[in-house]
This record gives sequence, C-alpha cells and structure tokens, in this order.
Amino acid sequence: MSNSSSVAFQRCINPACKAEFDCGQALFKCPKCGDLLDICYEWDKIEMPSKLSDFAKRWSNRNNRLDFSGVWRFRELLSFCADEHKVSIGEGQTLLQRNDDLAGALGMDAGSLYLQYEGLNPSGSFKDNGMTAAFSHAKMIGAKSSACASTGNTSASMALYAHSCGLKCTVFIGSGRIAYGKLSQSMDYGGHTIQIQGDFDDCMKQVQDVCTQLGIYLVNSLNPFRLEGQKTIMLRIIEQLGWEVPDWIVVPGGNLGNSSSFGKAFMELKQAGLIDRVPRLAIINATGANTLCHLFNEKGLRWNDGNVDNSVIDEYYAELTATNYSPHTCASAIEISRPVNLKKCLRGLDVCNGVVLEVTDEEIVDAKAQVGLYGLGCEPASAATIAGLKYLLADGTIGKDERVACVLTGHQLKNPNVTVNYHKEKQGPFSNPPIEVANDLNEIISKMSNV
Ligand SMILES: *Cc1c(COP(=O)(O)O)cnc(C)c1O
Ligand SMILES: [Zn+2]
Repeated sequence: MSNSSSVAFQRCINPACKAEFDCGQALFKCPKCGDLLDICYEWDKIEMPSKLSDFAKRWSNRNNRLDFSGVWRFRELLSFCADEHKVSIGEGQTLLQRNDDLAGALGMDAGSLYLQYEGLNPSGSFKDNGMTAAFSHAKMIGAKSSACASTGNTSASMALYAHSCGLKCTVFIGSGRIAYGKLSQSMDYGGHTIQIQGDFDDCMKQVQDVCTQLGIYLVNSLNPFRLEGQKTIMLRIIEQLGWEVPDWIVVPGGNLGNSSSFGKAFMELKQAGLIDRVPRLAIINATGANTLCHLFNEKGLRWNDGNVDNSVIDEYYAELTATNYSPHTCASAIEISRPVNLKKCLRGLDVCNGVVLEVTDEEIVDAKAQVGLYGLGCEPASAATIAGLKYLLADGTIGKDERVACVLTGHQLKNPNVTVNYHKEKQGPFSNPPIEVANDLNEIISKMSNV
C-alpha cells in the first residue's frame, strides 16, 4: 500500500523523535512515542504557482471537479494523494462577508470586520474542508470503514463523505451532548450511531481504541490529513481579500484542529515565499471548556520549539480526572476539555504570535444574536469569535482599524434550540421574542407598533 513516489510523508512533531512514515498508513499517532503526526512535503518536488493569485485561474475551469472544490483548488499545498483518489462533493464554496454593520456595532471602522461563512459547506460546517482530505486519504489506502467521536458536526460531515465514496461509518456521541440539527444529519446520511454514557472526551478515548482494534479509519482531527484540508479556509480568506493577509484571524477553540491547521498553513505559505507576513491568531474558548486558555494564560504553556512541557498538561488532566470534571457550555461544538491537537495549536500560536481567551455562554449567545441580526447567522460555537473580539477591542489588543477575519465555523440552523430559547426567554439585549395576541384584527393591529 505504500506510495513511494509520493512527495508527502508523515512526521512526528516531537523534536526528540521526528520519526517519519509514508502516507500509505493510517496511524493517527506516532507509533514510536505517541505524539501527534504532521504531513510534510518535499516542496522542491512540487510544481508550485509562483504567486497565490495563480490559483484563481482555476475559477474559469469549474466543470473540473477539483478546480471547483474550494479545497482542491489549492491542491499543490496538500499534495499527499493522486487526483484519482480525491473525493469531492463541492466543499469550500464559502464566502467572506465584509460586514460594516456588525463592525459598527462593535465600534470598529468600516472595512475592518470580515466574516468567513464556513456554514455554507455541504454539511453546514467547516468540517467538510477536512473530511474531503481525510476521505481522499482513506480511498488512497483502501480503507473500507470510518469512525469518529463527535460533538455533532464531525459526524454530519463524516456520514456525508462516507456515503459519497462508499465507506461505512460509525459515529460515537456522548449522551445528551449533541445538537439535534447535527444528529439528524448523520442519521439521515446513513451513519451508524453509538451513543456512549459520557461526554466528548470519553467518546474520543473510546473511538481511538475501537479504531486501533478493528482497523477502522479514524476521521477526528487527530487525523493529520484532515487538517491539511482545513488549511484552505485561510487560502480562501486571503483570496477574498485580494490575496492580502488580514491582521487577525479569530477562531473558536474546541479540539483545536482548526487553529492548528491555520498555523501550519501560514507557516508553510511564509516558508514558500507566497506571503510576506503572517496574521495574528486569536483562539476563543468557552469558559465552561477552557483548557487551552488555562494552560496558555495561567500556566504559561508554550510550543517552545516543540519541547512542550508535558508535565503541565499531565498535571492539569490529572486534576480534571480527580475532580470528575466534565466541560459545560451551550456551544456544544467546543465542549471539550482534553483537546487532542493541543500541541499543534501551541505551534500555531507561536507562528502567529497568538492570543487565547475565554468567553461566557451569555456572551456567546448575545454575540450569536448580533451575527444573526447583521449577518447570515451562525451556531453558538462560531459566535464565540465575536464575543472574544469584543474583549480584544476593549483592551486594545486589536485596533478598531485592523483587518479582522472571524471564522464562523457552523451554520445557524445547526442548533435552533439555543437560538429559540435566547429569543423566547428574553435572555439578552438582542432577544426578539414573538408577541402573543388574540385572533382579533384590532388587537393584532394594536401590536404592530414596530412596522
Ligand atoms: C468542530 C467545531 C469547532 C471546533 O473546532 P476545532 O477545530 O475542534 O477547535 C468549532 N465550531 C464548530 C461549529 C465546529 O463544528
Ligand atoms: Zn514520535
């Protein structure tokens, strides 16, 4: 199964190990030391465009499925498999909306705030960017069955891609922890669902053992091929800014796959000379699931050239275990307390001179209502970006004239319960509840004060 002609290989991120493996294997973790794996490329053997704008030429060739894909359009930057194995269902047709109304409401200058709508993907979240890459690798190595642990969107995306390319799939979810919009998708797409009495972190642990024992292909973001696809979210932001790099990227932090892949994207683009500077990165946790924020800000955990101080992480996780801690936030997509990509994310923070902060559920639902009021709407986890941005503007970390791109990771309709409750129960200043009135014309007209 090995692919010796490939220009890509897998490498352990632990500088004391650096073990290398070809791309013909599905490993999930370094077999020598257990650390995370990266996909690396022999860049000098890849025919790269001389400038980023060359990628745009593919827009004129959109009857070619790979040129149409918002991921594979940038395929030189993720060339780990031959075209014949590439799976695509038209992912990445997303848009970067300049939103001056929301910018104004936040006290930012016009032209400063941009919203990257990843909810416009086929399954309604950014996960499709990664899944198209993971399933391409799965096809390349001849996998027959796939699995993931999920807070919802990973399962929706996996089930969609699995049936599109003929693989079986099984979803592991925690009981009562998944938004119905997402669960409904994976069931509809034909995914087998295993509901475990536990939370996401429990599912994540179980699914790894299940996949290892049964030889099933794992598509969680532990899978380094998935993260390669997610790099293209950054390419599309740059593209829509006329191939200029913004000042800031703001992203919610859950399992930290996105932030890891964004950091890797900018690291590689800079090394290839395709950009001359990298943006800064802001990762936003929910207060009820704030492991990264705690370790980065309170414990000073850093990438440190790959020499991450494992004892700090181990100690904190032991504390979580000892207190039987389980994360809680209405932003279920980021309700994760043991993020698997923590170390790669630290690298991203290092590359992009990043910051981390946490926001409360109240701040998230208010921000979500504002994204709905001024933009196309999003799910709770996505709105953590706007809630976090408010803090970064208030303390001057981000200037009101800086160009900021917030990644809205999931569609508004993924989690209608949170939205309806916010409005009907008047939870915040942006609540917009329905007005009840008798079935009587005069009474109805008397309530129409706002038209
Ligand atoms: C998966 C997900 C996240 C978390 O992303 P990570 O890469 O795991 O940090 C955030 N928002 C939404 C909508 C998601 O589906
Ligand atoms: Zn290793």
